[in-house]
Amino acid sequence: MESYNSFKVAQQQILEAARILNLDKATIELLSQPQREFNFTLHVRMDDGKIKIFQGYRIQYNFARGPAKGGIRFHPDETVDTIRALGCWMTWKTAVVDLPLGGGKGGVCCDPKSMSERELENLSREYIRAIAPLIGTDKDIPAPDVYTNPQTMSWMMDEYETIMNRHQPGVITDKPQQIGGTEGRRDATARGGVITVREACKVHGFDPTKTFAIQGFGNAGQRAALLHREILNGGKLVAVSDSKGAIYNPDGFNPKDLVTYKLKTGSVLGFPGSKAIPHDALLELDVEILYPAALENTITSKNAQNIKARVICELANGPTTPEADIILNKKGIHVIPDILASAGGVTVSYFEMVQDNYSYFWSEELVHQRLDEKLTKAYHTVSEAVREKNVHPRLGAMVVGVARVAEACKLRGWV
Ligand code: NAD
Repeated sequence: MESYNSFKVAQQQILEAARILNLDKATIELLSQPQREFNFTLHVRMDDGKIKIFQGYRIQYNFARGPAKGGIRFHPDETVDTIRALGCWMTWKTAVVDLPLGGGKGGVCCDPKSMSERELENLSREYIRAIAPLIGTDKDIPAPDVYTNPQTMSWMMDEYETIMNRHQPGVITDKPQQIGGTEGRRDATARGGVITVREACKVHGFDPTKTFAIQGFGNAGQRAALLHREILNGGKLVAVSDSKGAIYNPDGFNPKDLVTYKLKTGSVLGFPGSKAIPHDALLELDVEILYPAALENTITSKNAQNIKARVICELANGPTTPEADIILNKKGIHVIPDILASAGGVTVSYFEMVQDNYSYFWSEELVHQRLDEKLTKAYHTVSEAVREKNVHPRLGAMVVGVARVAEACKLRGWV
């Protein structure tokens, strides 16, 4: 993987949007840095009885439009700049789908795969003890990200409520439904992405019933595999990958069987009827639609030239480097950028927070309908900006998001 500083990439994107929007110097400076960032050490009792120290972060990138919102990632390669970038992208993402929220992100540098359930619980609770004064439904609302999940959120919410001595389920989203979670959250990111693909197909004439491939077979990737056919009435899944490798079958996989296999064995490798292929080969397959759903910077200047997909739906945050973006544009590939394509998750997280706050819950059908309305509207708002400003889709989405946040900053008198 090309080594990239994601935050520098994110700052570069702000400059490009600011140029189109003619933003003044103070606004650019304000939007190019996190408004608040916290880093702290966490001391966690491990199963061998010893204490281990971890580095934790919580960044409230911008809260002009509402409380900061963003996931918590547990990952061995976590750096403060990755979290800054992710918090920055969350700021534009919540604005693109027009949610009354800002952007934030958090993380812990750790290797969750080598930790026991009890160690992960200790770490999750310790993380909340460190940030409890900084979060709340009116300040900052965390959620899961890579290698954290509804169980992690349950421990975190419980720790917060214990500290505050009151119920406040809306403080953290993507909880199990039994303790304040919402219908429709598990597949929201993928559903939102597939909805944007549906709109792209309508506008540009792509054929969703042809082939598709998915890089990264976790929460977002698995749900995209299941929902693509359901929402788009067809499509053949010919390749998938996870951190251990990639597999291919030109006749197509049964997404349900593949998900069951991955959950049972921990990897897609060895799925019956599949052929193992190199990681990068998946990205370069001749498919109609490609879903990057792994980590940042996987589509780079090294492989972009070989990408043959007609549509790239970025379920992952920041999967494409700026150089790769230029190449993809020149090749005429329609990129649905992360801040639009993966906004379904935060949209339903927001729905969860709203339902928690008034303690009355919606049906799954209503969640799906409201998510569809939000993502469809956002897709067309971005398309309009692309046409009006004559820019590529990522810049179009940035222009929409940055303009809304800049306006809120101005109205508040910050710039
Ligand atoms: P996850 O941990 O459930 O899944 C990540 C998957 O990527 C795993 O299957 C892992 O094995 C795989 N992977 C890691 N490195 C890889 C590589 N080099 N090549 C191929 N596969 C690789 O995480 P997730 O929640 O599905 O998130 C995936 C991406 O989507 C992240 O960028 C995340 O920030 C973004 N995202 C997720 C959500 C959400 O609601 N889950 C919302 C918005 C954005």
